[in-house]
Amino acid sequence: MHRLLIATTNPGKLREYAAIFAGLPLTLHTLADLSIADDVEETGETFAENARIKAEYYARCSGMVALADDSGLEVAALGGEPGVFSARYAGPDATDAERVAFLLRKLEGVPFHARLARFVCVIALAHPDGAVEYAEGMLPGVIELAPRGHHGFGYDPIFYVLDEDATLAELPPERKNQISHRASAARAARVVLERWLMEGRL
Ligand code: IMP
Repeated sequence: MHRLLIATTNPGKLREYAAIFAGLPLTLHTLADLSIADDVEETGETFAENARIKAEYYARCSGMVALADDSGLEVAALGGEPGVFSARYAGPDATDAERVAFLLRKLEGVPFHARLARFVCVIALAHPDGAVEYAEGMLPGVIELAPRGHHGFGYDPIFYVLDEDATLAELPPERKNQISHRASAARAARVVLERWLMEGRL
């Protein structure tokens, strides 16, 4: 079996990747399996840069092909904020609820039709030989006027998806995992992995 390091400590993300890479001749390893500490600083200015920094670091530590992702929310009326600062938007120790409240305050007075947003996920696949490839996924939506729903995490309760007529937090997790930015990026990453397998590089 070929080996792939999924550089995450989030068990939910690991399950999503395992589901999307099912059927590939790959054994998935995690940072915990290999006793590698999760201590890379995300100093990049873009999702792709952050994903690359992490994937390259973990490919070097492990000698294996490593997958890392970075994701966040971009709001058009805020010039793309919070973007790479999504997790830290309302300060380093804020809760999800505080980040949601902070974003809603920033958008006070902005009408529904002008609240366009998208979730973005960029996956970097780093080969120990130095090669890096990217896979990107997006989910368009509208920032709601007030939170609705209890599933998911982060900005899900205020992210309204038109095709579903629901916020992400109102959707069952299985449905979110079919349409999410991370799922689209993972499907694109699967294509890269299939090619690397064919080329004998994995
Ligand atoms: P990370 O890629 O896990 O570092 O996520 C960055 C931040 O973006 C998270 O802390 C959330 O605030 C936000 N985010 C990313 N993906 C999602 C999502 O699927 N739902 C809600 N918030 C998300």
